[in-house]
Amino acid sequence: MAELDCIFCKIVSGELPAQKIHQDELVTAFRDIHPLAPVHILIIPNKHLPNMNDLHPEHAAIAARMLIVVPELARQEGIADGGYRLILNTGVDANQVVMHVHMHMLGGSRMQYPMG
Ligand code: 5GP
Ligand code: ZN
Repeated sequence: MAELDCIFCKIVSGELPAQKIHQDELVTAFRDIHPLAPVHILIIPNKHLPNMNDLHPEHAAIAARMLIVVPELARQEGIADGGYRLILNTGVDANQVVMHVHMHMLGGSRMQYPMG
């Protein structure tokens, strides 16, 4: 079920615009509106799940698809060889802002580690 006030649910449905680069029956990928790297993509489940704590065994196919699309997107974006970082911010300590599971895919330049 889509949450009425969730911006990522609205991006999935098309109610809000986004630069989508992939969509299938389980997940959607689109460009982050405030990119922190030359390539900054968000990969999200189409289903509204607030954060990783809401992921249960019944969501195994969704979780798998979120990862399975990664190498394909990396090749499309030209960052497969150079590499990239995947981040799943969860909860207050990680500064999660949007309460709909999203995996950041960052690449296209050399990154520092760890991040602040
Ligand atoms: P968080 O801090 O929750 O892990 O990251 C949320 C991300 O969503 C941020 O990087 C932010 O720039 C991105 N974001 C927030 N609102 C929108 C939006 O309306 N469209 C897009 N494309 N990205 C958004
Ligand atoms: Zn949502």
